[in-house]
Amino acid sequence: MTTYEDLTPYAYWRFEPEETEPTLDVGRLGRESRFEVGEPEPGLADALPALARFHRVHVTRGWHGCELCGPGAEYPVSEPSAAGEVTLGSAEIHVPGVDGIVYAAPNLVFHYVVRHHYRPPAAFVRAVPAEAEARARAWEETKRSLPVGTPMHGRIVGYSGRGLSFEPEGSPDLKATVPFELYGPGRDDVEYHVPVDAVVVGHSDQERQIILQVVDQPRRTPGEDVPTRSGGAASAPPGPPPRSRRRSSRSTARPPPTPTCRP
Ligand SMILES: [Zn+2]
Repeated sequence: MTTYEDLTPYAYWRFEPEETEPTLDVGRLGRESRFEVGEPEPGLADALPALARFHRVHVTRGWHGCELCGPGAEYPVSEPSAAGEVTLGSAEIHVPGVDGIVYAAPNLVFHYVVRHHYRPPAAFVRAVPAEAEARARAWEETKRSLPVGTPMHGRIVGYSGRGLSFEPEGSPDLKATVPFELYGPGRDDVEYHVPVDAVVVGHSDQERQIILQVVDQPRRTPGEDVPTRSGGAASAPPGPPPRSRRRSSRSTARPPPTPTCRP
C-alpha cells in the first residue's frame, strides 16, 4: 500500500472530482513507516470499528493486507469488536474534524491501533467518537426511512465485500449493496455510475448495508462513463441469471410499500 505521512494532503483517491474539502491523510502505514506508539485513547478502539462498519468510503475490490504484520500475516485482516468481527483493508473512513478539515484513513487504522499500538494524530482521535455515533444513528434513521420493499434508484459507485455497492440518490452517505448472486461469481467488470432501478429487499444489522434487488439491467447513460482505477471504463455487467429474475418477480409481487424514498 502506498504510504503517506500523517496529516499530509490526501492524495490516494484523487480521481473523484467532487472531493473538495481539505482532506488530510491519517494512518496510511507501511513497512517503512515510523510512528508514535502507546495505549489507545479511551473510546478510540470502540469507535473505529463502528466507522468501519457504518461509513465505508472508497470501497475497493480486494483488500490491502497489513505490511506491519510481515510475512504470513492474516489476509484479509480482521479484528474482533464489540459488535462482532470486522474485516479491514478494503475501504477508508473519513472523519470531519474542526475547521472543516476531513481526516481520511484506511479502515486498517483500527488494526494498527489495537495490534501495533499506533497512536493517530490527536485531532483525528478527538473527531472519531462523535462521527462514529452520528453514523450509527444515521444508519438507524435510514433504515426507518427505507422500509423493506421500497423502490429505489441507485448508481454503482464501487465495490464491497458482498457485491456491487450502490449510492442511492438522495442518500449520499448510504452504501447499499446488491448481493453477488444476482450476477454470479467471477463477474469482475462492472460499469461505474450507471443508474439502475432497484428494490430494497433486506437490511443488515451487521454492516451498514441495505440489500437491493436489481429490477432492470443497468443501462448505459451517455456521458456518464468515468475512469476505473485501472484506467478506461469497464464493460457493462452481464444480466442477472434466471434465478434472480424469479426473485425479482416475487419481490415485486409484494403489497406496494409506502413510498418514502427521499428525492
Ligand atoms: Zn498488522
